[in-house]
Amino acid sequence: MAEVHSIARARRSRCPICQKPSVADHRPFCSARCKTIDLGRWLGGEYRVPTEEEPEEGDLEAVLRQRQADEER
Ligand SMILES: [Zn+2]
Repeated sequence: MAEVHSIARARRSRCPICQKPSVADHRPFCSARCKTIDLGRWLGGEYRVPTEEEPEEGDLEAVLRQRQADEER
């Protein structure tokens, strides 16, 4: 019953993005990817992305890169 152990760990500390157990290196997130998603979320609050689609995980990096480009203008 290895799963029981992973659930117990998940209870201790979970990623706020995907609810998976967080990893020490990326706390409180489970991975660098979720860290990026969280960053994208708070950037989205003050910087609206002109798109009708929900940004996918891979698109966030493009959004962040575009934001940097805009700041250089
Ligand atoms: Zn996560």
